[in-house]
Amino acid sequence: MSAEQASTLWCELAWLGGERAEAGVLIELDGERIASVATEVTSPPRQATTLAGLTIPGFANAHSHAFQRALRGRTQAGRGDFWTWRDRMYEVAEGIDPDVCFALARATFAEMALAGITAVGEFHYLHHGPGGFRYDDPNAFGKAVIEAAREAGVRITLLDSCYLEGGIDTEVHGAQLRFSDGSYEAWAERVDRLEEDPVARVGAAIHSVRAVDPEAAAQVAAFAAERSWPLHAHLSEQPAENEECVAAYGKTPTALLEEVGALSERFTAVHATHLAEADLRLLGSGGCGVCLCPTTERDLADGIGSARRLVEAGATLSLGSDSNALIDMIEEARAVELDERLESGVRGHHSAADLLRAATASGSVAIGWPEAGHIAPQALADLATFGLDGVRLAGTAADHAIESVVFAAAAADVRDVIVGGRFIVRDGAHLRLDVAAELNDAIAALPS
Ligand SMILES: [Zn+2]
Repeated sequence: MSAEQASTLWCELAWLGGERAEAGVLIELDGERIASVATEVTSPPRQATTLAGLTIPGFANAHSHAFQRALRGRTQAGRGDFWTWRDRMYEVAEGIDPDVCFALARATFAEMALAGITAVGEFHYLHHGPGGFRYDDPNAFGKAVIEAAREAGVRITLLDSCYLEGGIDTEVHGAQLRFSDGSYEAWAERVDRLEEDPVARVGAAIHSVRAVDPEAAAQVAAFAAERSWPLHAHLSEQPAENEECVAAYGKTPTALLEEVGALSERFTAVHATHLAEADLRLLGSGGCGVCLCPTTERDLADGIGSARRLVEAGATLSLGSDSNALIDMIEEARAVELDERLESGVRGHHSAADLLRAATASGSVAIGWPEAGHIAPQALADLATFGLDGVRLAGTAADHAIESVVFAAAAADVRDVIVGGRFIVRDGAHLRLDVAAELNDAIAALPS
């Protein structure tokens, strides 16, 4: 048995999905799965590895574009909006080849591991070479991203994104040429060649109603349904998208996606920031997921979504780091509540446990890993432990541990991370990679 492999874990405190953390939780593992969970075990048995602090299921980061990690700090000067930010993002995308992508994604996924993320949904749309040039392996980028996650130690769902238009009835141009397969058929033929394995799964994405026409969107939705894959789409991130969609089709983006058969329990709308009443009802009655990405949404001046009303309508929330301007799922989680407080003047829209659920179990379902995100028998042994003895969390009482972590912790408080029963982070350090050095080297390799 390797030093990374755990067999018996004793958690000082663990969150098992309720409103309070449990003290003295003994978790027996069977390979990559949890075999049994016992509570009120007051001291660690001799053979157990102790996890000091609060242990929770590993986070599922349900929406990421790993390469955008390189934009951190490069887009903050001067006035602008989402669209000027997008121009800068396209410049970075133009400078990436599969080798650069691999290094950048590996470092970024390793940063995610340090933050307690054990599974990532990578919304992947950078498919081809400069000008749309086809590599010998048309999945060179997708495979690089999957391999990067494997080496960083986290599970991945490659949400392969169809991207065919530069805007409604607009040809792709510039960097967008690298995103487009040219047709739905070419996209499907390429995606069908991707292979899954024990740590990597594949899902489908409609980039947005800006980038995929209704006929192709219907085809992508049917393709995902045939395979029971997750289906994701950027939805109503900006008012301009709504206006263009209504002008072209006489419908909101949500209504359009409903019409083409995209909405279902396997569907996750990403952002869903600017919704009409009818949109809320469609997403809710469809049992859809909605992935909020609050740190990106505030960074890009997108706006504040209607998280509470989405939940009341029947939608299930998950969370994503999206542009990776920050990688901190706790910050994403509390921002859902705190943003809504700022807008409404009212506190208490979402409990700490509900926010953790969005960041763990619901996110896992959204990216097609329903057997992760729980500390329970048969679940995958994917765990993250927050130390409670650092300056931010010192003084935490067991009764309020969930609230303390959700409203005061930082990613830097994550001490130990386990994926499939194996430690990938111990005492705050990644066991395989020098993450800061890898980030440095990967970003330095990009054209400035
Ligand atoms: Zn995105």
